[in-house]
Amino acid sequence: MIDLQIRGRGIHDSRVLAAMERVHRHEFVAAELASSAYEDCPLPIGSGQTISQPYMVALMSELLALQGDERVLEIGTGSGYQTAILAQLCREVYSVERIPRLAVAAQEHLQRCGYENTRVYTGDGTIGLAEFQPYDRIIVTAGAPALPQTLADQLNPGGRLVIPIGDRFLQKLMVVEKHGPEIVQQEVCGCVFVPLLGKEGWKVYNE
Ligand code: SAH
Repeated sequence: MIDLQIRGRGIHDSRVLAAMERVHRHEFVAAELASSAYEDCPLPIGSGQTISQPYMVALMSELLALQGDERVLEIGTGSGYQTAILAQLCREVYSVERIPRLAVAAQEHLQRCGYENTRVYTGDGTIGLAEFQPYDRIIVTAGAPALPQTLADQLNPGGRLVIPIGDRFLQKLMVVEKHGPEIVQQEVCGCVFVPLLGKEGWKVYNE
């Protein structure tokens, strides 16, 4: 998977490649899906959500440009797979998931696997996690209608935020940088994520 789907598609950061090699994706999906875990596609993780495509996990990790000492906020824990990759690349990962069942399962799994620099919180990640702000990096793994202002506010000056922005079914992967008070946005590629639901995301219709 690493050679063909990750390095072969242009991911060069050696720390990201090493982290992708160390974290076994099959451990983050249900046993009956384990045989598909190394195909480059999203897979269901229950509650209508998906574990992201490995290439997208690698690309977003590379775009964060982590050196190793950062505090990272992740929105959309899902299975915890991206969290585990980030745990290898930075000092601390604070991850927020809105579906309690997924948050609890991911926290338990990450702890069992020994990722001691990760913490999972249940809540609406569109308003970030005020308690531990500011963050050096923020990654959002669900599609937003626009950049949530609260997340931009919780980013350190000089920090970077990676987020899919677009409509409910198709988004653009954006890198947002904070230069002092100025916000600079750069488009990377098209992508497809499940919707980011919440106060500064899409409206929740069925709850
Ligand atoms: N990186 C995860 C991707 C999971 S899919 C993985 O690879 O497993 C995106 C996740 O974002 C879903 O679990 C969904 O429940 C969550 N999500 C959507 N809106 C959210 C919000 N406002 N706050 C926190 N999590 C949210």
